[in-house]
Amino acid sequence: DAPAHVTAIAPYQAGKPIEELAREFGLDPARIVKLASNENPLGIPESARQAMLKVAGGLGRYPDPNGFDLKSALSQRYNLPLEWLTLGNGSNDILELVALALLDEGTSAVYAQHSFAVYRLATQARGARHIMVPARDYGHDLDAMLAAIESDTRVVFIANPNNPTGTFQPAARIEAFLEQVQARHGNHVVVVLDEAYNEYLDPELRFDSTMWVKRFPNLVVSRTFSKAYGLAGLRVGFAAAQPGLTDILNRVRQPFNVNSLAQAAAIAALADMDFQARSYQVNREGKAQLCKAFDALGLKYVPSYGNFVLVRVGDAARINLELLKRGVIVRPVTGDGLPEFLRVSIGLPEENETFIAALKQILQS
Ligand code: PMP
Repeated sequence: DAPAHVTAIAPYQAGKPIEELAREFGLDPARIVKLASNENPLGIPESARQAMLKVAGGLGRYPDPNGFDLKSALSQRYNLPLEWLTLGNGSNDILELVALALLDEGTSAVYAQHSFAVYRLATQARGARHIMVPARDYGHDLDAMLAAIESDTRVVFIANPNNPTGTFQPAARIEAFLEQVQARHGNHVVVVLDEAYNEYLDPELRFDSTMWVKRFPNLVVSRTFSKAYGLAGLRVGFAAAQPGLTDILNRVRQPFNVNSLAQAAAIAALADMDFQARSYQVNREGKAQLCKAFDALGLKYVPSYGNFVLVRVGDAARINLELLKRGVIVRPVTGDGLPEFLRVSIGLPEENETFIAALKQILQS
């Protein structure tokens, strides 16, 4: 028998794969539009594809367990020494490494309502207690999160921008939160600043949070190659933290957690400024396209800082099913306590249009 804290876990609900929907509804997979998992609609950068071809011949060997080349590239980009960096099998892996290293029975983790589902899952898997702090205006209530920290709390998870709501906390607020946690709890409480959608922020909102790890020994900044870099299927992310904390994460890390293709592709994608600029631009334009359509349909949505929009459609379960029948996959967030909302990832203009046309048809029928 599995322990009670494991059987209590409600498994992660991923976006429905295209092939599965095609089988279920007898649809042509080529005509299905998937806007469900906040993937990059541009697909993989050509530079990353080429980089993978170059290393393909070496796949008979294990990957570099220390990710030296990728870490060196990240070290240059973020101006941090190698021993401040941890690679993950997606940034999910980073979140789990933190939970594995710091949580167990008798400890707790704090996170916000309507934030990334893995914070709760990773906490539960360790048999630790999770303290969910009610959201404010669909986003993190940092004052309430600070107040919610208890004597057994070891980790606070913050998603900025947040998924699935798309909300964003400006630099000054995060910085004040980090200062207060440090002042009250020292290094007893580790703050994970999960910035999976950082690259989609408008330039005037971006701040170099990786620099904060120099000031805060209890901070882990987590980033991913799954979104703006277009490598979701390869599973690669990274964390920046001081060497002491990085060393702790490394102790619980699987030796070969990031595969050779992913390492090579990430190096290429990191250098591909043109692809990054296009990802940002396509997202910016697609967001405007979706929001304009929601306005025209009289639908309310949460202003988004990510590559997706949370829109209030009413009976989301029914509308989701109708969208599926029309070959459009989006993400219901009923499990997050948002039964009237759907989360739609921002696609290419024509994908957005297919979704909008289907939604319009459903709402007006
Ligand atoms: N953090 C947040 C806030 C996310 O939305 C996601 C992806 N849905 C992740 C982390 C994990 O992404 P990955 O493991 O692909 O890096």
